[in-house]
Amino acid sequence: MPLIDDISTLEQSALASLQDADLAALEGWYAKFLGKKGSLTEILKGLKDLTPDERKEAGSRAHHAREKLEASYQARRQSLSRAQMDARLASEYWDALRPLQTGHGHQHPITQITEELEDLFTVMGFTVMDGPEVETDANNFGKLNFSDDHPARDMQDTIWLKGESALMRTHTSSVQVRSMQLLKPPFRIVAPGRCFRFEETDASHENTFYQAEGMMIDKDLSVANLIHVMKTFLSSFFERDVNVRLRPGFFPFVEPGFELDIQCLVCGGPGCPVCKHSGWVELLPCGMVHPNVLRAGGLDPNIWNGFAFGLGLSRLVMMRYAIEDIRHFLSGNLRFLEKF
Ligand SMILES: [Zn+2]
Repeated sequence: MPLIDDISTLEQSALASLQDADLAALEGWYAKFLGKKGSLTEILKGLKDLTPDERKEAGSRAHHAREKLEASYQARRQSLSRAQMDARLASEYWDALRPLQTGHGHQHPITQITEELEDLFTVMGFTVMDGPEVETDANNFGKLNFSDDHPARDMQDTIWLKGESALMRTHTSSVQVRSMQLLKPPFRIVAPGRCFRFEETDASHENTFYQAEGMMIDKDLSVANLIHVMKTFLSSFFERDVNVRLRPGFFPFVEPGFELDIQCLVCGGPGCPVCKHSGWVELLPCGMVHPNVLRAGGLDPNIWNGFAFGLGLSRLVMMRYAIEDIRHFLSGNLRFLEKF
């Protein structure tokens, strides 16, 4: 029967063609042989010209051919998909346990200097203290003898938290009152940490920077003790004899207050661009603790006194390594960080 021969021929040629089809060609193959307008459908249009018996036989043959081709199509499809997945797994294989090729990390320069500073002050009998970065108005300003209308409280300097009388601490001096309330005098503390200001950034200003607060409380301390501690620390830190001088400076929490200058480490005194030809570089504010601050910390100013200083940690690191822009510290720039 010619129609049955046609079906057999179609089946053979479809199977042969399937062996050559890739994934992209599969849909086309299906449409060509088994689709509504495909070859098999065309052949079966001849059924109407056959006798009932012939039609039954040819119909059965066509049914088996369709089943066989459908099954072959599915098998081919699965095998091609699996091969494609295998190829992808082989090319994109990633070993989660393989060591990374990015080299070793290390401590940030600020962290290195912080630990060094803690060691140097610990040797001098200081205790390392810590305080929260989110502070109360009282600890950051009020108890440090800032008046209610002091300009430092201004929105332009301080990051206030919404709806609270809380703020991001603007200096590590906030640890002073906490220390007095926590420790029994006499004591010496150093408190390194992160501080925040609401301000435009440039080469020497960051909205996030690092300080180390120092405070010593005892009986009969004087400015001479302050100078001695600062000289000892700075000479150890810069690994050479360092000369310091004090100029009057006004800060609400000290009386008298000073700006401590360090003799220029670059030129040694005669003057250079780094010290703006003055021979001195302004380094830190300090002074004798104001009686109001002692009272706020629960200490009797008739018995106890002391000094405090606020080391600019970021500035210290910049001076030691001659870093020209404070914004490098938080840039996340690996080429900068890898130098330390
Ligand atoms: Zn100089």
